[in-house]
Amino acid sequence: MEYRLLGATGIRVSRLCLGALTISPLQRDLPVDEGAQVILRALELGVNFIDTSQFYRAYPPIARALRECAKRDEVVIASKSYAYDGRGMEAALTEALRELGRDYIDVFMLHEQESMLTIRGHWEAVEYLLKAKARGLVRAVGISTHTVRAVRAAALVPELDVISPLINYTGIGITDGSKDDMEAAIRFAATCGKGMYSMKPFGGGHLMDHIDKALGYLLGMDDLASIAIGMKTKAEVEMNVRLVGGLEVPDDLRKATTSIPRRLHIDDWCIGCGNCVERCPSKAMMIRNGKAVSDPARCVFCGYCGAHCSEFAIKVI
Ligand code: SF4
Ligand code: SF4
Repeated sequence: MEYRLLGATGIRVSRLCLGALTISPLQRDLPVDEGAQVILRALELGVNFIDTSQFYRAYPPIARALRECAKRDEVVIASKSYAYDGRGMEAALTEALRELGRDYIDVFMLHEQESMLTIRGHWEAVEYLLKAKARGLVRAVGISTHTVRAVRAAALVPELDVISPLINYTGIGITDGSKDDMEAAIRFAATCGKGMYSMKPFGGGHLMDHIDKALGYLLGMDDLASIAIGMKTKAEVEMNVRLVGGLEVPDDLRKATTSIPRRLHIDDWCIGCGNCVERCPSKAMMIRNGKAVSDPARCVFCGYCGAHCSEFAIKVI
């Protein structure tokens, strides 16, 4: 496994980052022990970087895996929160520290920023994180985003150390531009000294038939210290470790990992409230004839909409 420094943070991360959204209740909802086993397999194979969020509710399997991992002190955790003020961010960080059983979180970020305006709107939360950083509770502060605009904005904010942008070779999921626009923004942010790690390399499942091309594209981007991939089985971990390491993937392993199609299921009992439409970062959800309908060409199967459905009518399956 190759390791790189995450910008100027001094934090050394594996080129492959385990994205915990996939095992979380928002997606596959694995039992804690099963999720922990997936994470442990990744740690055994040299992955030292885990991406999660307060919103994913995935701290329990990560904590379980850390307890069982002899090298737990070398594991780098990045988490994030939608909190916009100091009190909310303090609660989010306290929860992460308590649930993960850690004295500090390596990277703590504002979740899903859209522009300089939203970053400014969350500035109290950033100020809290800066104080936490000064006390050693956080090592680096950053944002995650699906927009080109926010990458360019965060690049110019000296207080932000890390940016986690969405990028893949088709650009699916980027809400305000093409993959070329995002690539240029990532290059710009890296020249500003930001630590960069990407998400959604396979477009939430759309590019699973082209994983070599999809990963090859990102591995060719030197400005990305790491690539976060959602993994929900040990076979997926083993395949991605091999791919990132430039090793052949045996056919049976490839079949076991790429033959699981994903889709968004919306139950008949949807009441058409529109909460999911507002929450969809990919603008893939709409209301038609009083019911929610998703556009399969835009949906990246993140499951965020389901977490905001009071009727529990949405599932990623
Ligand atoms: S949030 Fe749930 S109930 Fe509301 S429109 Fe979406 S699917 Fe329907
Ligand atoms: S429709 Fe739901 S699962 Fe699909 S991209 Fe939007 S929020 Fe994510």
